[in-house]
Amino acid sequence: MPRLALPSINPDRCTGCGRCVAACPEHVLWLQAEKANGMGDKHAVLHDVPGCTGCAKCVLVCPFDAIDMVRVPPSP
Ligand code: SF4
Ligand code: SF4
Repeated sequence: MPRLALPSINPDRCTGCGRCVAACPEHVLWLQAEKANGMGDKHAVLHDVPGCTGCAKCVLVCPFDAIDMVRVPPSP
């Protein structure tokens, strides 16, 4: 089935709670620190875009409404 949308994570709303990371069946989300040395707040990041199926389970579990599904153009 073609993927219709990808999650977009709003770093201003994301608290780094990790629920989306745990809920993602494809393991394509991880928590990333703001600073390169690993310090600073952590936010969820989609690190493997091709691996995301667009299932939106991450959106459903986020308690802070920090993830939106954004439509992507169909592949040629
Ligand atoms: S849409 Fe599904 S596969 Fe993609 S990051 Fe969210 S939970 Fe994982
Ligand atoms: S569930 Fe929401 S608040 Fe928690 S890490 Fe994921 S995007 Fe951030």
